[in-house]
Amino acid sequence: MHDFRYVDGHLHCEGLPVERLARKYGTPLYVYSQKTLEDHYGRLDAALAPLDSVICYAVKANSNLAVLRTFAELGSGFDIVSAGELERVVAAGGNPARCVFAGVGKTEAEIALALRRGIYAFNVESEAELVRIDRVAARLRKQAPVAVRVNPNIDAQTHAKITTGTYENKFGIAFENVLPLYQRAARLKHLRLRGIQMHIGSQLTEVKPFESAVRRVAPLAAALAEKYGIEFFSIGGGIGIVYESALASGQPDWWATPAAKGLLTPATYASKLVPLLRPLGLKILVEPGRFLVGNAGILVTRIEYVKQTGEKRFLIVDAAMNDLVRPAFYDAYHEILPLRCRCGVQALFDVVGPICESGDFFCRDRLLPAVDEGEYLALFSAGAYGAVMGSNYNSRPFPPEILVSERRADCVRRRQPLERIWEGERAASWQARPASGRRRPR
Ligand SMILES: *Cc1c(COP(=O)(O)O)cnc(C)c1O
Repeated sequence: MHDFRYVDGHLHCEGLPVERLARKYGTPLYVYSQKTLEDHYGRLDAALAPLDSVICYAVKANSNLAVLRTFAELGSGFDIVSAGELERVVAAGGNPARCVFAGVGKTEAEIALALRRGIYAFNVESEAELVRIDRVAARLRKQAPVAVRVNPNIDAQTHAKITTGTYENKFGIAFENVLPLYQRAARLKHLRLRGIQMHIGSQLTEVKPFESAVRRVAPLAAALAEKYGIEFFSIGGGIGIVYESALASGQPDWWATPAAKGLLTPATYASKLVPLLRPLGLKILVEPGRFLVGNAGILVTRIEYVKQTGEKRFLIVDAAMNDLVRPAFYDAYHEILPLRCRCGVQALFDVVGPICESGDFFCRDRLLPAVDEGEYLALFSAGAYGAVMGSNYNSRPFPPEILVSERRADCVRRRQPLERIWEGERAASWQARPASGRRRPR
């Protein structure tokens, strides 16, 4: 559910008309609702209350400092995957002692930084990584807290690019190799065996795969607690969100409506998992990314041209795949609606960006109200894996990000000035310098 809805025919984010933000900050533009962030966090936190649980927000889904700050203030921990994400969390006022560090390719420098910062645990993905962490910890005269990521070999039945819990992908340690690996790890003097972790994939819309994976791994977690005194079991992230009928999910009673039934809500998630997890008596970590931020953001774009070619009608907008790559990368669906509610005539449109790639599209043959050049559109549920996956392709600057809270709005990332795109580049030392360094357009 989210806080984007039409009031008097104008799409609002909480108490503000989005069009006002679009006019003030220009487009393309990301707009986030703080209340939605807090609501999703609160619902999950409440559902997991019967457990000794810690939510570790997966920073990679949306790493804007204001978003991180929102979760830090709610007492969230963080799931990080790089030195950059760790430093972002610190910059946002998050507590490194509540950070878990995931990823298959941690470098020595990243491990050293994380040890100096005093993170809660490394989620380890290979034996070679365990050995490396032990060596770096020895050098720094520290004990490194570790958890092994177990691959439970459960098919999450989601998109192939976001399935991680089967033996066909690069993640984790095969289930049957986990116990022997803890045996070896226990002999490494600078490691502290602190937990066990799993993560089977992203955008799971049913509880069943989570349940199967927890059933599989829980006895292993119990055995490790008994043998090595581990204190936590992290069940990963992956809780899916609603992308279709995004407008419906903006209704205040959405969580309670029949539409919500059968979908993965915090309540259904917890009702199946809490009974399996509670008897373990372990601290339970969850690492949601998309669930906490996905519905909390929209991408606002302006229609530059309406173009008709043969049978097809295109809306060419000022946002592109470099701003939101999910449709191109994952065949993802985003609900698209005009900021001004338009009833009446509908037609089939492709909404496309200006980039010279046929992959640069947001939807194909979608029934949309009759809209025109100069009007604004909102792409819903763009808060997760949106701005963070942006690039400067076609030398397009990163769009601004706005955080809204009730009737306040603040620009929490300014639009990237053009010359910042090539800041850090220069002609090679043997190349002649341009006649005049900086030419101003006349
Ligand atoms: C990406 C990732 C997450 C978050 O996934 P979501 O689908 O956004 O909840 C959590 N844990 C790990 C290890 C990840 O790689």
